[in-house]
Amino acid sequence: MKKITIAIDGFSSTGKSTIAKQLAKALNYVYVDTGAMYRAVALYALRKGYVGENGENSDGLIADLPSISLKFQKNEETGNADMFLNGENVENEIRTLRVSNVVSTVAAISEVRQKLVEQQQKMGIEKGVVMDGRDIGTVVFPDAELKLFMTASADKRAIRRYKELLDKGEDVAYEDVLKNVQERDHIDTTREDSPLVKAEDAIEFDNSDMGIDEQFERIHNYSLRVIEKA
Ligand code: C5P
Repeated sequence: MKKITIAIDGFSSTGKSTIAKQLAKALNYVYVDTGAMYRAVALYALRKGYVGENGENSDGLIADLPSISLKFQKNEETGNADMFLNGENVENEIRTLRVSNVVSTVAAISEVRQKLVEQQQKMGIEKGVVMDGRDIGTVVFPDAELKLFMTASADKRAIRRYKELLDKGEDVAYEDVLKNVQERDHIDTTREDSPLVKAEDAIEFDNSDMGIDEQFERIHNYSLRVIEKA
């Protein structure tokens, strides 16, 4: 059967990665979490002091870009792909609120986007890929055969993210998580380069009141129909 490209975009904490992972598994496709790549660059920038308390130094980060290496490597224990930054497994660290608080600022830098988009296009060149992010259906793979756009209310998304962080043992306040979700929505939708916007041909899913299982079943069935026709 012909392989296709599946682009999943949408706001943070809309369950994109959960659906994308399940879908890739069911179809035997490769899953690429592009948010992890932006998060790894944001972690690098934090460690170097290019973002955070000392203000912003995007020129410093841009100058360092050629020496930033990002790789996904399968974790045999979890079965998922972990993110490696310059050879170091940073999978857990990139999910912290500290990184979430600066990632959208870093992701708004055009030079950063250019580098990561190029890598993402290479990863999906042979199709058979489910990629999630903010600009996959609009910029990375505008010709993707299937495009999904996920939304949910900000407070529902913040509750989900808050629970996830608590489960991981992070000591966070719900108000801070909600603020982060709202700030990222704002930066991601208003940035000049590749703002988060629904591609014209994307199908929108609002999952504020829908369980992941129900949603997955719908999306899975729909993708099988698209693959059949491809
Ligand atoms: O998907 P996740 O919430 O991990 O993404 C973190 C941040 O990375 C987003 O809020 C956004 O600023 C940025 N991002 C992006 N383009 C992508 C994926 C993520 O700008 N394709």
